Amino acid sequence: MLTQNEILEIFKESEALLTGHFKLTSGKHSDQYVQCAQVLQYPQYTEQLCGHMAESFRDDGVDLVIGPAMGGVTLSYEMARQLGTPSLFTERVDNRMALRRNFHIPEGARVLVTEDVTTTGGSVLEVVDLVRQAGGEVVGTAVLVDRSGGSLDLGVPKQISALTLNVVAYDPQDCPMCREGQPVVKPGSRKE
Ligand SMILES: [Zn+2]
Repeated sequence: MLTQNEILEIFKESEALLTGHFKLTSGKHSDQYVQCAQVLQYPQYTEQLCGHMAESFRDDGVDLVIGPAMGGVTLSYEMARQLGTPSLFTERVDNRMALRRNFHIPEGARVLVTEDVTTTGGSVLEVVDLVRQAGGEVVGTAVLVDRSGGSLDLGVPKQISALTLNVVAYDPQDCPMCREGQPVVKPGSRKE
């Protein structure tokens, strides 16, 4: 198992976790920004972080791992590799989460659901529903970054995250960084 400091170090080392003054896609401002793809581009970090989360599910008899595309695919694959199970992913069809490509969840299968980052848990909850409707049993969720500060309840027996953050988002008129005159950066564009 990794310590919280070792996990934070991996995120900072890979520039997946930035601190500063950011304009989020919602239009709000924040002093923290997480981009999981930055850490997941390094297989050795993905292996370490998934190994950390997989420890919690070793004795759960997981039959398969599944995550929503795009964010959940890499995590599902590496978690499945470490747990010795198949890895599936879901996709949106007409805005509804769906299993495509002849993927199949056997009746009674014990299923672990993965995702890279959750704030309100929308996509993960949709996958959990899909698994249950297919007749699978959700044993838990493994989410790389929980941005809800740990307050999010996904209604599953076991809910694991490598990193829990409490990302505070400000309306621009209430933003303390704006008040201090710090230039705001739109993440996704190149660093200043
Ligand atoms: Zn601001």
